[in-house]
Amino acid sequence: ASTHHTIALERSHRLPGGQSMTDLSGLVVDRARNAEVWDKDGKRYIDFFTGVGVCNIGHSHPRFLAEVGEQLGACAVGTFYTDARSRYYELLAAQLPERLGKIHMFSTGSEAVEAAVKLARAATGKHEVVSFWGGFHGKTQGALSLHGGPRKHRSGPFPPGSHQVPYAYCYRCPLQLEHSTCGQRCVDLAEQSIENGSVGDIAAIIVEPVQGTNGNIIPPAGYLRAVRRLADRHGALLILDEVITGFGRTGSLFAFEQDPEVRPDVVVLGKAMASGVPASAIVSRAELVEGTSFGQPSAAASTFGGNPLASAAALATLRILLDERLPERARLLGETVARRLASWKEEFPFVGNAANVGLMVGVELVEPGTRRPLPKDVTRRIFQDLLAEGVLAMAYDSRIRIYPPLSIPADHLDEGLAAFESVFRSLRP
Ligand code: PMP
Repeated sequence: ASTHHTIALERSHRLPGGQSMTDLSGLVVDRARNAEVWDKDGKRYIDFFTGVGVCNIGHSHPRFLAEVGEQLGACAVGTFYTDARSRYYELLAAQLPERLGKIHMFSTGSEAVEAAVKLARAATGKHEVVSFWGGFHGKTQGALSLHGGPRKHRSGPFPPGSHQVPYAYCYRCPLQLEHSTCGQRCVDLAEQSIENGSVGDIAAIIVEPVQGTNGNIIPPAGYLRAVRRLADRHGALLILDEVITGFGRTGSLFAFEQDPEVRPDVVVLGKAMASGVPASAIVSRAELVEGTSFGQPSAAASTFGGNPLASAAALATLRILLDERLPERARLLGETVARRLASWKEEFPFVGNAANVGLMVGVELVEPGTRRPLPKDVTRRIFQDLLAEGVLAMAYDSRIRIYPPLSIPADHLDEGLAAFESVFRSLRP
């Protein structure tokens, strides 16, 4: 079937709505290897999208295909014990501090986020959950109740019991202060917001170490530590949503490792965890759930959570990440990216903020000489121009998000960044 036919066929059967990248790109994918994707017409793309940071080990890794294929042939279904799952738990626990060494698997990020909230409520006997402006934790009703942005297209009412407080996006400081001298007053503002909102019984604070959906927004050094202290002052658990930042993306296996004082109580994992086979997890410690409603048999069970296929895919992914030292590679390649971003800020007056941690890269486009966001149609054009140049990346509103595989060859990374430069040079906003 032709590209046109494939798209027309789906559209004639699909409910309206769905995945935005599908229709924005109109791409009919044929195959993918490491950091390259080919469409049905044979056009090749450098993949800076990777399904929103899902294939950190690269597309179609041979070892991944072999190990997952073997499990698929042996048994894919059911939640019995398997070697794959027990070995996965052992290997994952060995990478985590002892306080986080207990694992439970689910299938999607949203589901694991909701489980983390249930765990916190069961562990503390309290109910409120504090989340952040600009934060995103998924699209199920409970996860949406934590959403820190406009919910205009989303169907309410949402479950009560959540409260959103300001986040530290220094480029757009909610207090219009300078980071070098502000003394992190936004943390005080968050605390005031909690108190003014008369939120007296906080079970948990949930935060992304880097806000992904908001545009890969990186908080300043020391911010998460301050959030940890805020949680302590309110007797709340700290839930880190590492659905995007986990598994090497930010240059360490988990983003929280970069500050030993952050010490989360629960970490939520997903996306790159099993390189495309749906799998997610929470990691925490046993004392928090023992004797609680969460710790009862089957309370957190689901049809697909920790099934043999997902377990084998997660195990293969983690082994590859560790054996090929991909978190370290993300950190090193991230240094190259940081230099390029610095030159973009010099050369292109419409590049406002541009920053990365490892291979999690965010660029915000503004009207030159101001901090006003560039109109959406300009970002849309950039997206289309990149596509024409053979680069897949996320660009919407005034923000660009880049997620290459951590295994991307240096010349493919360079090729993708160079395409950005050529698109930016042709742009006269
Ligand atoms: N948390 C974060 C930080 C996310 O970015 C996402 C998805 N973009 C989710 C949770 C939800 O994951 P899923 O789409 O797998 O439900």
